[in-house]
Amino acid sequence: MRTAPEKFQDIRDAVRALCADFPDEYHRRIDHERAYPVAFVDALTQAGWLAALIPQEYGGSGLGLAEASVIMEEINRCGGNAGTCHGQMYNMGTLLRHGSPEQQRRYLPKIASGELRLQSMAVTEPGTGTDTTKVKTTAVRRGGCYVVNGQKVWISRVQHSDLMILLARTTPLAEVTKKSEGMSIFIVDLREAIGRGLTVRPIANMVSHDTNELFFENCEIPAENLIGHEGQGFRYILDGLNAERTLIAAECIGDGRWFIDRVTRYAKERVVFGRPIGQNQGVQFPIAECQIEIEAADLMRWEACRLFDAREPCGTQANMAKYLAAKASWEAANAALQFHGGFGFACEYDVERKFRETRLYQVAPISTNLILSYVAEHVLGLPRSF
Ligand SMILES: Cc1cc2nc3c(=O)[nH]c(=O)nc-3n(C[C@H](O)[C@H](O)[C@H](O)COP(=O)(O)OP(=O)(O)OC[C@H]3O[C@@H](n4cnc5c(N)ncnc54)[C@H](O)[C@@H]3O)c2cc1C
Repeated sequence: MRTAPEKFQDIRDAVRALCADFPDEYHRRIDHERAYPVAFVDALTQAGWLAALIPQEYGGSGLGLAEASVIMEEINRCGGNAGTCHGQMYNMGTLLRHGSPEQQRRYLPKIASGELRLQSMAVTEPGTGTDTTKVKTTAVRRGGCYVVNGQKVWISRVQHSDLMILLARTTPLAEVTKKSEGMSIFIVDLREAIGRGLTVRPIANMVSHDTNELFFENCEIPAENLIGHEGQGFRYILDGLNAERTLIAAECIGDGRWFIDRVTRYAKERVVFGRPIGQNQGVQFPIAECQIEIEAADLMRWEACRLFDAREPCGTQANMAKYLAAKASWEAANAALQFHGGFGFACEYDVERKFRETRLYQVAPISTNLILSYVAEHVLGLPRSF
């Protein structure tokens, strides 16, 4: 549909060329088998795309968030699901910003080469949900290690990670002056921890994220695996969210464009009542509306990228980009399903698969309501609601 070159056309062309080796049938089979796209993620890793944000001195390509977002967008636009590997792109940001020089030297080059996979981040808990400062998982210093006890839920890609970032309480809530203090983050070597205090239980679910419940029972983590200062972990996690939200906004934009391309093509071809269904305004208008909304969300995504890459505050723009893009991709998914008629429900058209995949982004990694509450409080100055 688009003919003029787009921003970062060279990156787009290269990612599309790689994605062309993994056509719809590949992603459909992975989805059907509830499997993980190992070959696809390996190819992205070997081509260096997932190391885009790692500085060159550590073996990455040192690109900005704008370029990284194009990589994620193109994966989804080509029919794939960047959600299976986006953690490898942005989880390392916590180490990059807050890790010690020794941790950075130890881990970042191997993450850049793909030798180590840091695909998982364990924050959510069953008893606390979005109310993160109430996390009940504890890490208690004992000699040269921290002993971790507690439970996490919805922790993705553990089966495809060597390392995981863990948020746990190191000072009880009752003993801190601000509830956001007293939490710390750790790098957990999953190869060491699983079976030695950490139990992983997969959760069958709607999308192929390989997501899990985690049970920590006296799991020992070397003290040297603490990232940054003890008690500051919640702030470090928040620091990483703007990149995560902006990249996911780009994924949603990729999804939205995929849905719009597919439904437009179908609406031109499908003839009912003696004319293409796309000739009816009742069909045209909802698709046109999706096009407008995706383009508008894209502008906010570029604004978030611009500010992030200029190292300026971008929390508002990153949240708004995620909100707009997730909403627009979901509307596009609905239109694509609707105007494929019965065929929208047939797996071979891939619409139902992408429909399920893009729906996630109004719930995770942050729900739409929490973005609205961020804007209400931080942009409009309304009283804090929780
Ligand atoms: C496939 C999948 C993968 C995930 N991967 C990870 C991962 O890798 N790591 C990780 O840590 N987490 C992960 N999550 C968890 C995800 O971040 C949470 O599900 C999400 O943050 C919502 O938390 P919750 O499920 O506990 O919902 P709850 O906090 O129980 O909220 C339920 C609903 O109530 C609404 N709500 C709650 N409080 C308020 C309020 N004050 N005002 C208005 N509305 C409110 C929420 O918006 C939400 O819609 C994943 C989730 C899924 C489904």
